Amino acid sequence: MPDRQSAIVTGSTSGIGLGIAEALAHSGMNLTLNGFGDSDDIEANRTRIASEAGVDVRYDGADMTKPDEIRRLVDDATTAFGTVDVLVNNAGIQHVSPIEEFPEAKWDAILAINLSSSFHTIKAAFPAMKARKFGRIINLASAHGLVASPYKSAYVAAKHGVLGLTKTIALEGAEHGVTCNAICPGYVKTPLVEAQIPDTAKARGMTEEEVVQNVLLAAQPTKQFVTVEQVGALAVFLASDKAASITGTAIPVDGGWVAQ
Ligand code: NAD
Repeated sequence: MPDRQSAIVTGSTSGIGLGIAEALAHSGMNLTLNGFGDSDDIEANRTRIASEAGVDVRYDGADMTKPDEIRRLVDDATTAFGTVDVLVNNAGIQHVSPIEEFPEAKWDAILAINLSSSFHTIKAAFPAMKARKFGRIINLASAHGLVASPYKSAYVAAKHGVLGLTKTIALEGAEHGVTCNAICPGYVKTPLVEAQIPDTAKARGMTEEEVVQNVLLAAQPTKQFVTVEQVGALAVFLASDKAASITGTAIPVDGGWVAQ
């Protein structure tokens, strides 16, 4: 057995995925980063995390819309590190638009990246986890996996689907030491959220500042954005031995949003 556990975090070149990747690396795991972006920025993050956390960090640019690339991502991570102990399905995109105008191509892309990619990564990683009697699968759903907001039909549908997948895999892994849970963040100020402010302003006839105050933070009783560090800390706990009895859950980290 390898002396360190290893984790794959999809969509970890930015935002929440990068925060989770850093947190897992600092808990002592080797890491496979994934996602798009500027190659110099990605390399800088890769070397910085490796040196600060003292673990091996590799980068794989697999496209989460492409099942062949997803299978290769899991195979190559297994070859590099010996095992994939922790799989974090985090890659995601958003599009905000009323249903009448919602582009079909955006629906297809959101379903592919936010939902189907998790099916493909889990299908590829699950057999070895089951055989070793250990695995931790963490899916990034959203408060929008539990409740809806208007103008986000594809995203809300995909995230509700992620919760169904999470429960199913939890049952299939339950007797094999493999847990599967979903984290459901509220609004975290990442590029994904910043990019949807102008479209939400247009769809709702508001200024961008009104969107932040009256739509985003209005959803969260704390009136504060969730931080990537808060989500990363939960991922580290779910990945730990102590979380062995937590499976099939959808855990909100949302400042009280879905309690209302
Ligand atoms: P982000 O835009 O900062 O990061 C998204 C990541 O996904 C990036 O690394 C990007 O390169 C990657 N990605 C996009 N398309 C990809 C593809 N085809 N193949 C591989 N990688 C791809 O977004 P974020 O806010 O950090 O979101 C991360 C996850 O958290 C998403 O699943 C999102 O739905 C979820 N989430 C975010 C919030 C929030 O408020 N930011 C709230 C709830 C849930």
